[in-house]
Amino acid sequence: CGIVGYVGRPGHAHTALNVVLEGLRRLEYRGYDSAGVAVVVNGAIDSRKKSGKLSNLVEEIEKAPLPDAVTGIGHTRWATHGGPTDQNAHPHLADGGRLAVIHNGIIENFAELKSELLDSGHVFLSETDTEVAAALLATIYRSLADEVADPGQRLTVAMQRACQRLEGAFTLLAVHADAADVVVAARRSSPLVVGLGDGENFLGSDVSGFIDYTRRAVELGQDQIVTITPEAMEITDFHGNPAEGTEYRVDWDA
Ligand code: GLU
Repeated sequence: CGIVGYVGRPGHAHTALNVVLEGLRRLEYRGYDSAGVAVVVNGAIDSRKKSGKLSNLVEEIEKAPLPDAVTGIGHTRWATHGGPTDQNAHPHLADGGRLAVIHNGIIENFAELKSELLDSGHVFLSETDTEVAAALLATIYRSLADEVADPGQRLTVAMQRACQRLEGAFTLLAVHADAADVVVAARRSSPLVVGLGDGENFLGSDVSGFIDYTRRAVELGQDQIVTITPEAMEITDFHGNPAEGTEYRVDWDA
């Protein structure tokens, strides 16, 4: 129901975890039943997720701390497919735990995609439509290994191709252990806003997700993909053609 993403550089006063948890707190007003975060650090993904209040997730992180990272994503879930359990909470991992995905919305054709992925040997750990999108993205990402050398670029192209196969309404965010400072996001009929910072960039399902850090926002259009790094933002359509969002200044007080 709420989504936050962050990429920065070492040396900022805040870590990816601070930004993401603070963003999720700001988005709590939308209602949710579970929460989770993933960070990319030392060539791996580390994640925690928990049903119930954000404070349950924070407690979990206190018990099993996450390392300082410059890249992270966070999610509050409003269950549509699969009950509000720890296992169904996002992020959902794929590619042997090297890819993490969070999602708002519904993948309408998940059953068809799931049986295809089950046939090719994929093992699912949750009942969500989201994990199907994660598995599809991982399969495409792996198939692009020879075609696209740069892992961040590969994740972007994989997201474009995955979205061509997804039906429904979705905002998706993905991070991969191979790409230390990249977050890729997509949207169809579900909101997504980029926050532009100085040597850091943000993503949110609405501007509340990053309002404490920047007032420069770019609203994505229908069927767009955005890739953020600490220094840049690149927008395309689902076919890889360059596209543009709508930049504006947030002038209300949060
Ligand atoms: N359909 C997804 C799920 O049930 C995402 C729900 C949401 O928007 O939070 O896990």
